[in-house]
Amino acid sequence: MAEKARFWTYDPTNIFARILRGEIPNKTVIETSHTLAFHDIHPQAPVHVLVIPKGPYVDFAHFAAEAPAEEIVDFHRACARVCEAVAVNEDGFRIISNSGSHGHQDVPHFHLHILGGRPLGPMLAR
Ligand code: AMP
Repeated sequence: MAEKARFWTYDPTNIFARILRGEIPNKTVIETSHTLAFHDIHPQAPVHVLVIPKGPYVDFAHFAAEAPAEEIVDFHRACARVCEAVAVNEDGFRIISNSGSHGHQDVPHFHLHILGGRPLGPMLAR
């Protein structure tokens, strides 16, 4: 079965685009040539870091479909470096990526949430 083509429209006024342009501050954890990781402004756990690609991707599917391999590798290695930097590897952590309206994505720039620092409970509230 042929895959359905998908098109994404990136909104350059979103808050993470503004952070990337240096228009608003962030608490950086690590930065690489393709990736920025910073503390979430409303942390849901003792550790709550957001990891974003510097490229203009709306969500997970957009990033996976259109980012060059170099950016995808850099992004995932940066996530692993964040887990080291915030010391969650020993006790564990959770990575979440919200997408679209069912996923309750608020900011339309692809990001992963890295959460840890306490037992996080079941994956979803019931
Ligand atoms: P999502 O609902 O998956 O799109 O998550 C967006 C996240 O961005 C939320 O956890 C917000 O608390 C966080 N956030 C929004 N604005 C900022 C900001 N200026 N700096 C850091 N985190 C932010």
